[in-house]
Amino acid sequence: MTGIAADTGVTSYGLHHRRDAILSPEFDAGGRGAAAAPRVGVLALQGDFREHRAMLERLGATTIEVRRQAELDAADALVIPGGESTTIGKLMVHYGLIEPIKTRAAAGMPVFGTCAGLITVAREIVEGDQPLLGLIDIVARRNAFGRQVHSFEADLELTPFGPPPLRAIFIRAPWIERAGPGVEILASHQGHAVAAREGWVLVTAFHPELTGDTRMHDAFLSIVRRASSTAGATGARAGVPTEEVVS
Ligand code: GLN
Repeated sequence: MTGIAADTGVTSYGLHHRRDAILSPEFDAGGRGAAAAPRVGVLALQGDFREHRAMLERLGATTIEVRRQAELDAADALVIPGGESTTIGKLMVHYGLIEPIKTRAAAGMPVFGTCAGLITVAREIVEGDQPLLGLIDIVARRNAFGRQVHSFEADLELTPFGPPPLRAIFIRAPWIERAGPGVEILASHQGHAVAAREGWVLVTAFHPELTGDTRMHDAFLSIVRRASSTAGATGARAGVPTEEVVS
């Protein structure tokens, strides 16, 4: 299972900033505290899931470590951490999580992938073959910033947030090589897209969980709250058949 669909023509897509979509309400600062604390699952197979949990709980979310489908079923959203995407992919296969995650995402569960998590949720990668979830219409290039610079920090202008810039930590980071027309590019570094969103799927090539800047996680929690209120209206909860909740 690779999640790669060769026939969708993404190779013709360019990278583009959709400023209209970037101003979507999830990124307004005022979303916090509007509803009950969301239960955010953090995929805990490998990587820095503990740092994500700490940041999410600092922001008022309840977190669940997800290794089994029952834990996924109890979560309103899923974070896929940085780490090693080939390992995370193999373990997702081993634990039978690929199809359950895809099903939940198709039913409206928000997903946030950072670094290896960005690769894991991508539709395709430039080279190699590894299990992917295909939740966002991007093509990712692994280890894209070069062997000589495995790790670096950079100040990013994140269009939705405004000043100050976000201090971003890149560790053997991917970039987004290509993106489909429904994808909002939220930030770029050296001309390469490093943060994006499509629907309720958010990705960063960097590690917001390793800094004190909570704005990325805060934005994700706003997406989660919005998705939960939509789900409450349509019945999109774990265990409800997908066809009943996809509008
Ligand atoms: N290079 C790793 C990969 O390809 C990602 C590194 C990270 O998550 N910091 O999976």
